[in-house]
Amino acid sequence: MSEPLVIVGNGMAAARLVDELTRTAQGRYAIAVIGEEPRLAYNRVLLSSVLSGETASHDIELRPATWWRDRGVTLKYGCVATEIDVGRRELKIAGEESIAFSRLVLATGSTPLRLNVPGADLAGVHTFRDSRDVDLLLTLAAQQKRVVVVGGGLLGLEAAYGLAKAGSPVTLIHLMDRLMERQLDAPAAALLKSLVERKGIKVLLDANTARLHGETRVKAVELSDGRLIEADAVIFAAGIRPNIALAREAGISVNRGIVVDDRLETGAPDIFALGECAEHRGICYGLVEPAYEQARVLAQHLAGRAAVYPGSVVATNLKVSGVSVFSAGDFVGADGTEAIVLNDARGGTYKKLVISAGRLTGAVLVGDVADALWYLELIRGGEPIVGIRPDMMFGRSLARASEAA
Ligand SMILES: Cc1cc2nc3c(=O)[nH]c(=O)nc-3n(C[C@H](O)[C@H](O)[C@H](O)COP(=O)(O)OP(=O)(O)OC[C@H]3O[C@@H](n4cnc5c(N)ncnc54)[C@H](O)[C@@H]3O)c2cc1C
Repeated sequence: MSEPLVIVGNGMAAARLVDELTRTAQGRYAIAVIGEEPRLAYNRVLLSSVLSGETASHDIELRPATWWRDRGVTLKYGCVATEIDVGRRELKIAGEESIAFSRLVLATGSTPLRLNVPGADLAGVHTFRDSRDVDLLLTLAAQQKRVVVVGGGLLGLEAAYGLAKAGSPVTLIHLMDRLMERQLDAPAAALLKSLVERKGIKVLLDANTARLHGETRVKAVELSDGRLIEADAVIFAAGIRPNIALAREAGISVNRGIVVDDRLETGAPDIFALGECAEHRGICYGLVEPAYEQARVLAQHLAGRAAVYPGSVVATNLKVSGVSVFSAGDFVGADGTEAIVLNDARGGTYKKLVISAGRLTGAVLVGDVADALWYLELIRGGEPIVGIRPDMMFGRSLARASEAA
């Protein structure tokens, strides 16, 4: 008989795990997926495209209902898991009967942070995480509401771009002195800022949100230097917090995320976690690729095969506000490294390759990202680059050709 395996969360990590698991351990598990969002799992990354009007909401579903049915998966969406009884191996679900599991996987993702400032709970203050948020933001844009986006990381930029494209006047405010400081060095961030401004978005750096003004509804954002920015709506895009409450309340070891070992197992036997809610070797990843790598390893392990997750080399490869951006590895360049840089501000291209001990260890690209995946392979592979170094900056084909010559 199939063992009952329950997954909490119907997001990207869960969908990939089911995909891997139904291929590697066919028939071994009776899988049930419990998801809070009231729709089939979708590609959350594409919410930005939905917001900017480039993709329709129903086109971002990861798999159709038939796919889940064909694999015998019991899908409960619009359902919140409320409690894990670790001893009895039961999961409580709001308004439903508890379900039993032999293995449990937590794939509960993250929640956007709301800044802890006066006025943060006023009407008109939103976040950008799921398709319900997008519906709301599209309504704001249709009414051409003035929007202030708080946060100049990936999410804030995507929200700002989508809203501006959909018709809202947008001001983006960021605490740091450059955009996407966790992925870009200063010249790359400066280029990105100018490209974003060309799309009609006003960008304020070194801008610390002190309070939001308004009686019941937000009217303005006040910065700590006294500047006041009028707003009909405010979007917080200033970070995420892994959803760990379910695990914590069950006595499972948590830190910032749910702590897992190299097999993605939590401190409780047969209870696993992956994706944004998991913390592996001290790291909570906020990107899809690590979640997919974790899903591959966990599926192998659940299929009874030896598999280890060593951590991920994080790469960011995306279109931010309509501008292609890539960053991987040591993009700043630690002491003792060298950098090859191409900076064409007018042409909208910046490339930086970081080299350490004859190997590529980091890269940042803005504008032209055609060779991003090749650079990522080189970083991950750690192979010596001496033969391709002279032309490496100009792309794979040229570098390989000159190496062969
Ligand atoms: C707008 C946007 C753009 C992004 N762009 C990129 C990008 O370009 N590249 C990239 O790598 N990453 C991007 N990300 C991040 C990426 O989407 C996440 O890393 C990925 O979705 C994580 O997958 P997950 O399954 O861990 O979490 P999620 O996809 O968030 O899924 C978790 C699910 O669990 C559900 N859940 C939580 N608690 C419970 C509970 N108690 N009971 C039932 N269900 C529960 C949640 O409702 C949610 O549906 C973006 C994110 C957003 C919001």
